[in-house]
Amino acid sequence: MKDEAEGEQNQVNFDLTEEQKLLKHTIRDFAEAQIAPGAGERDEAARFPTELIPKLAELGLFGIMIPQEYGGAGLDTVSAAIIVEEIARVDAAVALIVASHNSLCAAHLLSFGSEMQKQKYLPSLAHGEKLGAWALTEPGSGSDAAALKTRAKLDGEHWVLDGEKQFTTQGSTAGVYVIVASTDPFRGKRGISAFIVERGTAGLRVGKVENKLGVRASDTAAVQLEAVRVPKENLLGELNGGISDVLKVLQGGRVGIGAMAVGIAQGALEESTKYARMRKQFGKPIAEFEAIQWMLADMATEIEAARLLVYRAARLKDAGMPFLKAASEAKLYAAETTMRAATKAIQIHGGYGYIKDYPVERYFRDAKICEIGEGTSEIQRMVIAKELLRGTE
Ligand SMILES: Cc1cc2nc3c(=O)[nH]c(=O)nc-3n(C[C@H](O)[C@H](O)[C@H](O)COP(=O)(O)OP(=O)(O)OC[C@H]3O[C@@H](n4cnc5c(N)ncnc54)[C@H](O)[C@@H]3O)c2cc1C
Repeated sequence: MKDEAEGEQNQVNFDLTEEQKLLKHTIRDFAEAQIAPGAGERDEAARFPTELIPKLAELGLFGIMIPQEYGGAGLDTVSAAIIVEEIARVDAAVALIVASHNSLCAAHLLSFGSEMQKQKYLPSLAHGEKLGAWALTEPGSGSDAAALKTRAKLDGEHWVLDGEKQFTTQGSTAGVYVIVASTDPFRGKRGISAFIVERGTAGLRVGKVENKLGVRASDTAAVQLEAVRVPKENLLGELNGGISDVLKVLQGGRVGIGAMAVGIAQGALEESTKYARMRKQFGKPIAEFEAIQWMLADMATEIEAARLLVYRAARLKDAGMPFLKAASEAKLYAAETTMRAATKAIQIHGGYGYIKDYPVERYFRDAKICEIGEGTSEIQRMVIAKELLRGTE
């Protein structure tokens, strides 16, 4: 009875609509039944969850924010955050696949694609027939994204792309790639554009598939481009206007990574609470020690705060209001929260937290990507400070 009441209390989301609450329950049930059971094995083997893709597609999770007219679910950003959080609560690698496909590749096409491009590419992405990748980072350009070297030159009716992309999520599994390249090196960041490249295009090759610390079942790969010819109409957005589109896409993406961080932290908290009740030392459950209680209390409080920051950024985006600072605040705080929570989770488990029999060991490794991907914590602080000093608030 007591557990049930506590469980109910955790479900009190007075600020969510009835549809969003139902969505949370549906995704939680699905994640626990379908995603959680194989999570440890996939992580250990660094195995992409191919068998889960049709199941995720059936639930509409590859077209979360894509409008129904293009085959998507047409949901809002708060709903997208709920979905990513609930998946990350059991498996952050699967959450990263869903988040990057939706909020990077599909979102870029949806926000800046022509009507023809949307009709051509969004339905297969929405149905999960093709996975989406978004390739900005290069070996020599990470935080300083505008320093990229991949070059796109116009040759008659085609763009010809040459270069190398690094750390591309879905890099070896995608059917559709958004590739960011320089179209006018003399104009620096004002000479950058985005292109749509389909898998199978001659000259596009998958490079090194990374063996990672965490989110090991997600696919992170280099993508090599050697004289890749795409039709002129595969230019995505304005010629030389790519960097502002990229920064807008990243704002939305950061809400997704924030949600992923909240999910990992929530999973770590629940595992820790369960363990603290069960594990006995000095003749009583360790949950009765104040030191353990304080760790749990701090985890719970920070997770609630992080979740509210993520919802706030999502709501601002849905309302069409500026959300640059809010997205960075949500991502920064949620990422650092999940690292703190995962560290405490290991501590609460003692030696058992350090071995692979308990999921908190995986959560600890998975949490770290939230402080790096889609802009490191240092970059988020730079964005927040810049907005503060500009006096936007
Ligand atoms: C698992 C994974 C998945 C990824 N998926 C994708 C993807 O799908 N698409 C994509 O394009 N990229 C992707 N990335 C790349 C990711 O976005 C970059 O790794 C990240 O932006 C950091 O770039 P970097 O690794 O080159 O680090 P660097 O930019 O070299 O940074 C190194 C350190 O210097 C700090 N630093 C840099 N500049 C400053 C500054 N001005 N002030 C203070 N500190 C600074 C950074 O914060 C960091 O601590 C992925 C990365 C990983 C690991």
